[in-house]
Amino acid sequence: MATQQELTGADVIDIVSGYMIEEQVQYVQKALDFAIKAHADQFRKSGEPYIIHPIQVAGILAGLNMDYHSITAAFLHDVVEDTPATLEDIREEFGVDVAMLVDGVTKLGKIKYKSHEERLAENYRKLLLAMAKDLRVILVKLADRLHNMRTLKHLREDKQRKIAEETLEIYAPLAHRLGISHIKWELEDISLRFLHPKQYYRIVHLMQVKRTEREKLIEEAVEDIKRATKELEITGKIYGRPKHLYSIYRKMVDKHKRFEEIYDLLAIRVIVDSIKDCYAVLGAIHTKWTPMPGRFKDYIAMPKANMYQSLHTTVIGPNGNPIEIQIRTFKMHQIAEFGVAAHWAYKTGKTDEVKPNEMTKTLSLFNEILDIQSATDNASEFMESIKDDIFSDMVYVFTPKGDVIELPAGSGPIDFAYSIHTQVGDKTIGAKVNGKIVQLDHKLKTGDIIEVITSASSFGPSRDWLKLVKTTRARNKIKRFYKTQDKELSIDKGREMVMNELQKNEFNTKIFMNKHHLDELLKRSSYQTEEDIYAAVGFGEISVQTVTNRLTAKERNEIEQQKQVEAADQLMTKSVKVEKETERMKIRHEGEVAIQGIDNLMVRLSHCCNPVPGDRIVGYITKGHGFSIHRKDCQNLASQKQVEKRLIEVEWEDKASAQNASKDYITDLDIYGFNRSNLLNDVLQVISSNTKNIVGVNARPTKNKMASIHVTVKVHNADHLKQLVEKIKSVPDVYSVKRKNG
Ligand code: MN
Repeated sequence: MATQQELTGADVIDIVSGYMIEEQVQYVQKALDFAIKAHADQFRKSGEPYIIHPIQVAGILAGLNMDYHSITAAFLHDVVEDTPATLEDIREEFGVDVAMLVDGVTKLGKIKYKSHEERLAENYRKLLLAMAKDLRVILVKLADRLHNMRTLKHLREDKQRKIAEETLEIYAPLAHRLGISHIKWELEDISLRFLHPKQYYRIVHLMQVKRTEREKLIEEAVEDIKRATKELEITGKIYGRPKHLYSIYRKMVDKHKRFEEIYDLLAIRVIVDSIKDCYAVLGAIHTKWTPMPGRFKDYIAMPKANMYQSLHTTVIGPNGNPIEIQIRTFKMHQIAEFGVAAHWAYKTGKTDEVKPNEMTKTLSLFNEILDIQSATDNASEFMESIKDDIFSDMVYVFTPKGDVIELPAGSGPIDFAYSIHTQVGDKTIGAKVNGKIVQLDHKLKTGDIIEVITSASSFGPSRDWLKLVKTTRARNKIKRFYKTQDKELSIDKGREMVMNELQKNEFNTKIFMNKHHLDELLKRSSYQTEEDIYAAVGFGEISVQTVTNRLTAKERNEIEQQKQVEAADQLMTKSVKVEKETERMKIRHEGEVAIQGIDNLMVRLSHCCNPVPGDRIVGYITKGHGFSIHRKDCQNLASQKQVEKRLIEVEWEDKASAQNASKDYITDLDIYGFNRSNLLNDVLQVISSNTKNIVGVNARPTKNKMASIHVTVKVHNADHLKQLVEKIKSVPDVYSVKRKNG
């Protein structure tokens, strides 16, 4: 492990001057001065002035060519926490961006860990959330952690272990995800030193013993590869790649290998100008030495999630020693070392090949961040969520693959299943928690690993699940399932109802339920689809008669028209016959008015003369509007031209029904008399004592102190009317009573 040179503030300013414009350098200098002043009388555990720490953190980020906001935030990252200076001071002096970064780093540092399991889940989550806000918060935090790790020896042993563990579980994987490989390796190596010092120093010792031998072998291999690439006229860097302690350790532990098996494997890196050169070099190497089967990996064609690109191969090299070779371009190398930090790196010197947009596109990490962002809505919500208390209301559980799922406390396997996917939720039949089958009402705890058991033949969620679930998502999904299912049932039911109703009325269902008829119906309704209409019928929202009437309206009208014409013809023919036989057609008037012996013809009592049973009447065939019954003396009818042709002799069916008191007929009376006081009153009293039905009254004085009273009343028949008229006539000062006629 390389020993780190401690930087001075001036060193950091020097580094940033190499890639920043003058104004930005001044801005950074201002932050350095601010930090020096703020931390003036503070010291670290090591006894050194505190300011050394923020300077080193800024130095690490300057080494990554990070932007001036990040460097500024690095200088100031402990100011709010450890000095009287406030976030507002920083906002005033350095602006919102820097204040936001400092605030983020401070809050990230406040997260307290409870237990091993919780720590894994919670922090992973929190850190991902932190990235959603601004990845630079994480980068500053990583630099902070890196320097703290470099100076870990000054802390108490138990603290060392705790911090090293956390670094290995949270920060190193994070650096890996962000593709910042050399921070990742250093974090891992230092963590190992404090967690497993024996193994660590044993590996260090073995490496030292082997170093000379290994260096000699590597030198030979490098020369061999150089000769092979020289023929291709490709220039590039070829060198022995350092092996990292922690990766050797992991391979020894995980793959049960001896140190030699790992360390003796030579590792060479080839860096060239173009992708074309990468494959050319690979070809040359594979021609010269035998590649080991299954060891070739093309991460150029298929980059890793953290943007890593390279060709990997292992060949049997000179003297039969296997050599691992990585081939990549300078740009790829840049990304392999800097990772996401390259996104903010300045386009100067060695980083000018980096195109942030292109990178953003290819970096699947950013897609994940977008997902997280849409799940948490906005940045301020994130900052809220960072606060310790909110996490006590949540549980963090794992999928069998190790993905962390956040759920409200009290959630169960069904909540979990629906948080994975609706399909998973709907098909859930059981669940395993930490390998054991549990009831569906089991409450999940942070750190649990949940495996949902699904069945393709499941009939879907049970309604009882609504009582078990905690999340709105699961509840909504279950409700939606039932709504959809209920709707489907209703559609079927509604469709059948419409079908039966049409059949009952002898309409062909194939015709009247076809697309044309349904489309016409939809046009004149508020429903979107035919299924919506059937569902509405099934639910009982709309009556089946309404739907079938509308479906058949057009045809029924056409049929009706046709019937009127036919019936009129029939009647004309019949009337000729009737005249000969001097027999009159009978008018029936119970309920509907109808003509005996003639069906399908609309018959109505004319409103111009309002015939009542017992009146002498005549029938009149209208043009397309059926048959109307008038009083024989109707003046309106008399005024019609060529009326005779269309008149048909009719009479009320019989005396009995003429006296039928169950039905009332409208009639209008004009009453004329001396306009004395109470005349109207007296007239109305007489009328109301003879009929229950006064429909309307209109009275007005006329010339010569006379009065005209118009009443509309309902009577049973002509006899009833006659009686009424006689009664009115008997009222003193009434001179005449006339029935309105046309
Ligand atoms: Mn710090």
